[in-house]
Amino acid sequence: MMNFKNLKELMMNLSDEKVCREYVEQMRWKGNPICPHCKGANPYKLKDGKTYRCKEKTCKRDFTVTVGTIMENSKIALSTWMAAIYICSAHKKGISSLQLSRDLGITQKSAWFVLHRVRQLMGEPIDKMDSIVEVDETYVGGKWENMNRGKLKEMRKYGRENKVPVMGFVQRDGKARLTVIGKDSFKDVVRKNIHNSATVITDTHLSYQGLKFEFAGHEFVNHSQSEYRNGITYTNTVEGFFSILKRTIFGTYHQVSPKHLHRYCEETAYRYNTRKVKDNERFNLTMQNVEGRLTYNNLIQKVN
Ligand SMILES: [Zn+2]
Repeated sequence: MMNFKNLKELMMNLSDEKVCREYVEQMRWKGNPICPHCKGANPYKLKDGKTYRCKEKTCKRDFTVTVGTIMENSKIALSTWMAAIYICSAHKKGISSLQLSRDLGITQKSAWFVLHRVRQLMGEPIDKMDSIVEVDETYVGGKWENMNRGKLKEMRKYGRENKVPVMGFVQRDGKARLTVIGKDSFKDVVRKNIHNSATVITDTHLSYQGLKFEFAGHEFVNHSQSEYRNGITYTNTVEGFFSILKRTIFGTYHQVSPKHLHRYCEETAYRYNTRKVKDNERFNLTMQNVEGRLTYNNLIQKVN
């Protein structure tokens, strides 16, 4: 683990490419380099000080620590990556590619790509939530969010084709999660995210009816009767979580294309779930996920 208090100290510690490389090697391999091609565990270092060669007879390939990570095949300096990862995970509402390009002196196109790759480090494993879980749905959409009410009402007559439904989950005293609802029903999304020993708290939307037969408990919050808080029965936490998502999207990114929305959701949830962690701890945590690279093709592929 590296000790630093803020971005300035991080950049002073990680200004040199060699030091950055050793730091990434430590975070990724913890002293035991693994070949990313065949998972062979006995590579040796070549004289250039950064390339490893696999000893496995069937492999014998060369690699550096960035192969198979979000930084693979990137011309951007490792020190710039480190700063970008810090900034992206520390800023409460994220950072736009335009701002990051100015802050780090890279093109906006590079900054956009760096940010998408950094977001990939923020996906968390989907383990089912338990105990008491607040569930709610919201609609995230392009420019409509900024329209006046009359205009919005008029547009809604034409349906919500521009809006993407997102379901939010908050386990009381646990983690929060945002899931873009695709073709699944509301109940299917709930089933995929919550263990059936949990008590589920939803609003009175008809799509949630019947959950009481599948879960330990199902409590309803009736928004229209303004009984917003009644014992354990409230969804204020998940509603607050949605407002963070919306502030992130409309405050920082202005508009998000539906095919990338799930990444912004993961980013928001990641920051929310690590909100009590210090910025430097969050940076080290994020760096531990450095494996797993988002290829350009994966990133730009069309969503059907
Ligand atoms: Zn190998």
